[in-house]
Order: sequence, then C-alpha cells, then structure tokens
Amino acid sequence: MTTRFPLFFASLAALCIPAVYAADGGHPVLLVSIDGMRPDYVLKADQYGLKIPRLRTILASGAHATGVRGVLPTVTYPSHTTLLTGVWPSKHGIYSNVAFDPQNLNAQGWLWYSEDIRVPTLWEAAAKAGYGVGSVSWPVSVGAKGVSYLIPEYWRAPKSSEDIKLIRALSTPGLVAEIEKTAGAYIDDLDQAEAGDRQRTQYAVAIIRMKKPRLMTVHLAALDHLEHADGPFSPSALRTLEQADAELGELEDAMSAVSASPILCVVSDHGFARTDHSFNLVGALTESGLPASAHLDGGSASIVMNDPRDEAGRRKVSEFLQRLADEPANGIERILNSEEISRMGGWTRASFWVDMKTNYSVVGTGPVNTARKAAGTHGFAPTHSDLLAAFFICGPRRGALAKPRRNRYAQYCADAGQDAGDQTAVRRSAGAQTRLTTRLTRIICLAKPSARRSCPGEAGGSCLRPL
Ligand SMILES: [Zn+2]
Repeated sequence: MTTRFPLFFASLAALCIPAVYAADGGHPVLLVSIDGMRPDYVLKADQYGLKIPRLRTILASGAHATGVRGVLPTVTYPSHTTLLTGVWPSKHGIYSNVAFDPQNLNAQGWLWYSEDIRVPTLWEAAAKAGYGVGSVSWPVSVGAKGVSYLIPEYWRAPKSSEDIKLIRALSTPGLVAEIEKTAGAYIDDLDQAEAGDRQRTQYAVAIIRMKKPRLMTVHLAALDHLEHADGPFSPSALRTLEQADAELGELEDAMSAVSASPILCVVSDHGFARTDHSFNLVGALTESGLPASAHLDGGSASIVMNDPRDEAGRRKVSEFLQRLADEPANGIERILNSEEISRMGGWTRASFWVDMKTNYSVVGTGPVNTARKAAGTHGFAPTHSDLLAAFFICGPRRGALAKPRRNRYAQYCADAGQDAGDQTAVRRSAGAQTRLTTRLTRIICLAKPSARRSCPGEAGGSCLRPL
C-alpha cells in the first residue's frame, strides 16, 4: 500500500486540488462523529428498517468507505485523536480512554486534555489556514489549540449540577452562558445519552449560526451508550441512530444556511461487537502475583510490566498469558507481543496486549470467565471486521450529478473507500483511519498553498506524505 501513495496523491493533485483552490479558496467542513456507528447500519439500512434519510442521502450521492480499519485499541479517545491527527496512538500519545493509573491516584480520570496530544491537529491546521474553528464534545479537546468556539467533552461529577461550572470554565469564555439562555442547560452526563446528544446538537447549531465556523467538529455519543447497554443493532440502538440522523440534519442545515458549499463528513471512531461473556483478567493477573498490571480497553487489555527492564518477569508473564489463552473458556483471541503492538501503532509502554474474541469483554471483577446478559463492547484489536469504523462524505452540488464519482469531493473519498474498504487492503494496511485525516487536511490545507506547512501529518512526521 505504501508504495502506491505518491502516485495516488499525484493523481489527486491533478484531479482535484487545483479545482478546489480555484473555486473559492477552500470549502467549509462539517465533521460529525457518531460514536460506535458501524458502517453496515447505513449500508444495510433497509435490512434494519432504519429511518435515516440524511445518511441515506450521503450514501446515495456522496462517497463512503465500506469499512475503515481503526487503531489499537478501537476505543473512543485514541480513535478520535487519530481522526484529527492522521497518526497512530504511539505517535499522538492518546493510548486509551482512561489514564493508566495502577495506584488509583487520578479518580478514574480520562485522557481529556489536548496537551497530551503530541502532534498538530486538524483544528490547528485549519486555524492556520484561516478557518474559524468550532467544536462540541469532541474527545481530548480540553484546551484544544486552534478552536475558537470550544465546548470540550469533560466530566468529573456529572450527576451534580456543579459540573456545568466546569464546562463553562473549560469552554470558550462566555460561550456556554450565551447559548444556554435559549438552548437550556448543557448536559455532560453520558448516562443521559439521548438528551445529551440533543443538547450537543443544539449548542453546535447555535455556534454554527452565531459564529459561522468554517470547520465544525461535533461528537454525538448516545449510540455508543445504547450499544454498550443492549448491543449493536438492538432496538434501542436503532432508535438512537434515527435520532442521530435527525440531529445530523439539523447540523447540516445550519452549516448550509451560513456558508456556501459546505462539505459534510460523517465518521465513527470504531465499530461494535455483541458480547455475551466476560473474562476477569485483572483478577487472574493479581492472583498470579506476577510483576505486571492490566489496563482494560473493553475488548482488549494492555499489559504493563512493573519494571520494563525485568526480563525474567517478562518471560513469566508471557508464559502465564499463554496459559490463559490456551483455556478456550477464557475467550482470548490472541496475545500480541511488543513487536506486534509496535507494528499496530499501539501504546509503547505495553509489553503484551490481550485481544479477546469479539463476544467477550475483559473486566476487572467477578468470576474468571462467565456468561453475561447480551450487550456490546469495542476496544478489540482493529483486525476484527466487527470493529471497522464508518466514513461517509459528500460535497457541493450533492445530488445534482448523476454519478457520485464526478463530484470531486466524492472522488476524494471514493479513493478513501477504496483504500479503507477493501478487505485485503484493510488487512495489509497499517491503519486506514489515519488516511481519512489526509483527505480532510488536504481539503483545508491545500486550499491555501501558504498554509501547506501546517498540515498535521507533515508537521507531525506521520505516514502522511506531502504532494
Ligand atoms: Zn467510541
């Protein structure tokens, strides 16, 4: 795949970029993440009887990937950060949702803070290209550089009314107070899943209408919540996706009302698997007395040695993990070693990674292995087909052209789909999710040649390649 890149980008340059620049100096971009949306919700919408007219329209008139290979682990914060940086967790530094904290000093804190992102983001690239940038509830956005109208995803005591003060304090000064006069109180409690998405949408629409950002990123989280509770494609998940589609429509309409020819891009961070068993890796490891900790990511867990120089301990942990994997009832798909983790771009502190079969979640309490109520999770290695993420895009003059590939933004992403959706390519490639950033970055960065140096991939030394 790698050797195809120079030719591929050269062809994009010939076909697309000069026209983009000549048209109007770059199009506004609305980037909406529907957390946990498998692409087959949209690709097989008829099969599920889904009323999702907006997503169906993008599918029919834009371009898409049939599946995007994510990162290790396929969880929300590393994945969203890859979408905005084009590099793997080992480079951008967001290795999990929750901070590694074996001594429990951090009160279950998540990796909320953008200062932990080690490379430039699409927000920064867009700002340097002259775009006004807005964002609502995007993961790892506390303190995000380049975002002029920011409401970050954050919580500490979401059942308390005190948390709204945190949101006001961490958002662009005055922004939340300005919007809540008409939209009502913001909701940061993820347990209020559907109501929370309603408010995220209302606040994002208000930012679009009042501030007219040219790049707007919005994270809708409810689908993921219902999938965890009831499993993917459950009645509650289908209902929630229909709500997300309506919210997507409100966002798109607002963006179209304030800016000419916006590009709409809908992504997800990861797919989802149906689970009916769990495996208590933490309990097994603790009982063994071995010098290592397990950091859980839903469908997988990284194993961190207490002392990374302890080679004898590492061998014992390796043998122990293999014995666990040899017991079929534990549900372990395979144990990744540090070289395999490195090749997948996973967390560099992990010496091993325990990847589960997709009907198992890895937990920290309860029996070693047990059957559970049907539910859902993600976080497995990105090689499982259930974990493929979504990517849909459409550009100006949507619907006016009979053949989507004649739409140059559709062309961008038909190519993305070709890369990311082809199963052979997915298995061979080293993280197709990284490539989506390439397309979005180039829509923005290459609209202004003077801003090309600010593209995240180029500045971050990633797999993105300059033209
Ligand atoms: Zn997620």
